[in-house]
Amino acid sequence: MKNLTFENGDKLPIIGLGTWKSEPGIVKQAVYWAIEVGYRHIDCAAIYGNEKEVGEGIREAIKNGLVKREELFVTSKLWNSSHKYEDVKPALEKTLSDLGLDYVDLYLVHWPIAFKRGIGFAKTRDEFYTYLDAPLTQTWEGMQAIKNEGLAKHIGVSNFNQDKLREIMGIGGQKPEMNQVEMHPFLPQKGLVQFCRENGILMTAYSPLGSPDSRNDSHKNDPVLLKNPLIKLIAKKHGISPGQVLIAWSVARDIAVIPKSVNRERIKENLESINVNLDQKDLIELKDIGVDFRFINGSFFTGPESPYNLSDLFE
Ligand code: NAP
Repeated sequence: MKNLTFENGDKLPIIGLGTWKSEPGIVKQAVYWAIEVGYRHIDCAAIYGNEKEVGEGIREAIKNGLVKREELFVTSKLWNSSHKYEDVKPALEKTLSDLGLDYVDLYLVHWPIAFKRGIGFAKTRDEFYTYLDAPLTQTWEGMQAIKNEGLAKHIGVSNFNQDKLREIMGIGGQKPEMNQVEMHPFLPQKGLVQFCRENGILMTAYSPLGSPDSRNDSHKNDPVLLKNPLIKLIAKKHGISPGQVLIAWSVARDIAVIPKSVNRERIKENLESINVNLDQKDLIELKDIGVDFRFINGSFFTGPESPYNLSDLFE
């Protein structure tokens, strides 16, 4: 497996398993299958509501001798309701207790948006904190503290634009080691990728297949990445699936990629994308795919009652 390398030499397997929307009753099996076929990188988050079952899959695989803990790379994320300095460590401790692990390999600030303690999804104005109440710099100090304690081997962020990255890097100490954002040929994030490269921040692409299982009625007119004619053409040329084209595209850009699946065949197929070599012609054509689209558009955090704007999230 190709890896990305952190500044201290630790390795991140470039393809991981996503777990958002993987139902608690199914995800244990999906994680076990993934480890069985060779995944060594699992992407979790407290808000996905399934970390207990993800942890059961991991622990069963360890118990059955498929893998050792130190061979696995487990990521989790701090939810928006724990952005105050004193809330960061308890949030991670809850995740560790759910996963049944002593540490995570990577802990990310999930969104640059803060809710009051105990709020799952803020709807009314009084359920949000503003940046004055809960500055991102304070959250980042809390993240540095949990890294210093060894509860997370690496720390980073998710859904941060260049301004927000600059803001937290401004306090000094440990810089963010990862920025996980939506990325695929409809949203190649060129400027953000360049900024992260220049600043030694690794990147992970989420929703690499266009997140087809998060479509609901309000998204019925969204373009379908897996059915895009160019993606299908490249898939046909190489004798692979459209999903494999999309995963190989991230790998070719040295960006970690975390396709979600609970289906045994697709879990395997997605990992096998590591053997796909897209050629220069494919990569040039994909640059000119002609569709510019963000599937996870942040509208759930920026409604009329929210103190946040889309410019707080995206470039
Ligand atoms: P995704 O990985 O783009 O798409 C998942 C969907 O594609 C599922 O419906 C899955 O169905 C299907 N699928 C999987 N492999 C396939 C293949 N080879 N061919 C066709 N369909 C396939 O969507 P995502 O879940 O939004 O993103 C991936 C992961 O990124 C998440 O699970 C999560 O871990 C992370 N993420 C992070 C954030 C963040 O804010 N940091 C936001 C979104 C996502 P089956 O399960 O039935 O195979």
